[in-house]
Amino acid sequence: MLVEPRYDGNLGKVARAMRNFGLSRLTLVGGRADPNSEEARWYSRDEAADVLDAAERVETLGEALSECKIVVGTSRRAGRRRGRPEDPEELFEDLEPWAKPLETALVFGREAHGLSTPELDLCHRIVFIPSDDASPSLNLSHAVGIVGYELYRQTRKALGEQIEREELERADHGVVEAMFEHARRVWLRIGYLHYQNPEMTLRRWRHLFARAGITELETRVVRALLHQTEWVARVAGIPEGGVRDAPAELFDKHSPPEDRNGSPGKS
Ligand code: SAH
Repeated sequence: MLVEPRYDGNLGKVARAMRNFGLSRLTLVGGRADPNSEEARWYSRDEAADVLDAAERVETLGEALSECKIVVGTSRRAGRRRGRPEDPEELFEDLEPWAKPLETALVFGREAHGLSTPELDLCHRIVFIPSDDASPSLNLSHAVGIVGYELYRQTRKALGEQIEREELERADHGVVEAMFEHARRVWLRIGYLHYQNPEMTLRRWRHLFARAGITELETRVVRALLHQTEWVARVAGIPEGGVRDAPAELFDKHSPPEDRNGSPGKS
């Protein structure tokens, strides 16, 4: 949210910075800057034109905030006045706004004199971008860019970690059982399991996978190997019932020449 933005160019640059960091909902509280002006459009470039198209304008900050649960104000000084200044990194680490994206408002002030004290009083938290004491006030769009960057960086990290956690979770029991069912069928077919007691060898694999905590993705890797094995068995002419059902010629065809010449070979 921008409170009384004045310059068309700044509006365009804010839209572009928002788009760069995955933010799209822009609310203008009063102000003269026009999202449809040529200058705003020029600075937003085509990529962020939709941010300007969708920008809403309301009369008061209270109205703009009515549906938000957490309100974050930005100021080059209020952080200090209100105690310990919070920088964007600390703020987002604590708030985790990506968990409920549309509930958190980021409020930026006027180019000339920022947010008023009553406006800052409407905010739950105040964020301050560390900057040189001699010139602490950033251009509006730069401030949006820095806060947007930090939010984007932490959001990406948090969502990436979530995906990683999910990938490391053990597969459901049913998924693992389906994999063993498949393995039993294919391994019997190729003569790897003992046809009278297939469970003996299979049990060792069960123990191995249970100890490893096989994930769903890993069961898919195992099943890809089983599918490939099945395909090779089919090409080789091994019947579904397994090597026991295969005609003797099959083994003649696949055994090395010396076996065919009468050497005993392995039984
Ligand atoms: N001259 C004004 C600053 C306005 S800059 C003043 O004295 O307050 C426009 C807006 O950019 C500010 O209202 C704030 O939203 C943001 N901003 C600029 N510098 C900032 C900083 N160091 N930390 C946080 N926000 C800042």
